[in-house]
Amino acid sequence: MESAPVRLVMLGPPGAGKGTQGARFARQRGVPWISTGEILRQEVQAGTPIGRAAKVIMDAGRLIGDDIMIGIARDRLERQDAAQGFVLDGFPRSLPQAEALDTLVDDRSPLVVVDIEVPVETLITRLRARKICRNCGWNAAPGVEACAKCGGPLVQRSDDNIDVVRERLRIYERSTAPIVEYYRDRPTYRSVDGDQTLDAVAADIAAAVASVVGSRR
Ligand code: AMP
Repeated sequence: MESAPVRLVMLGPPGAGKGTQGARFARQRGVPWISTGEILRQEVQAGTPIGRAAKVIMDAGRLIGDDIMIGIARDRLERQDAAQGFVLDGFPRSLPQAEALDTLVDDRSPLVVVDIEVPVETLITRLRARKICRNCGWNAAPGVEACAKCGGPLVQRSDDNIDVVRERLRIYERSTAPIVEYYRDRPTYRSVDGDQTLDAVAADIAAAVASVVGSRR
């Protein structure tokens, strides 16, 4: 019998660990990790028209328009590998995006929504220390000297400097935090304490998902 796909939406402010934890969970479950920030950074790196327009907005810590982002998410979710489940990281980030997502998924299985909560001081410390690979954009683990994926040099993300970080947190509060209210009353919503070790957060996320869909895919 075909098992129901796990469709996980990671919520939480910048620096909460959505990327690190989302990629790890996706790897363990064998489903794609879909980060809209990562898709945009690839467009920037490739110098496409979307990438060139997005870079200015991303470097200011602002949000890309809903129509563009909904189109990007739709194209990605329609790809074959997402049919058996996915982990969404960084989408939705506004109410129109959350409403659009509900229309993009069929009813084979519900969206599991995990909200990672982290105090703001911890977020700022984490974002200022965060490093990514200059060549491939890989999100490096703390304390690592070079990219574990391609060996490239690590650099700070252009939107992780303190002024942009503060703007991103402000925009999170204004535009993205309200979507917690959109999901909070659903039986598939869970919140997880993100101010713990990586392994403890990963275990809590796995338990949260299991409590919604069972421990198997
Ligand atoms: P992230 O890697 O998720 O922190 O995203 C980096 C940047 O990409 C954000 O600060 C936004 O400028 C942009 N971005 C990523 N996802 C979205 C989205 N769903 N809606 C609007 N902007 C986005």
